[in-house]
Amino acid sequence: MNTPERNICQQCEIPMHHLANFGSNKDGTINTEYCRSCYSRGVFVDRGISLEEKIELKIECD
Ligand SMILES: [Zn+2]
Repeated sequence: MNTPERNICQQCEIPMHHLANFGSNKDGTINTEYCRSCYSRGVFVDRGISLEEKIELKIECD
C-alpha cells in the first residue's frame, strides 16, 4: 500500500509524479531513482556540452 508520493530525481532533484517522468533501466523497467532526463535505458543521459564548452562557444561567436 506504499505509494511513492514523493519521488525526487537523485541527479537533478526534480519531483517525479508520473511514470513518464521516471528514468528507465536497460531492460526497459522504470527506474525510480532518476528522472527520464537524467537516466534513460540504463545510462545517464549526456546533457550535451559542458558549461566550459558553452563558454568557449560564446567566445567563438564573438
Ligand atoms: Zn533528473
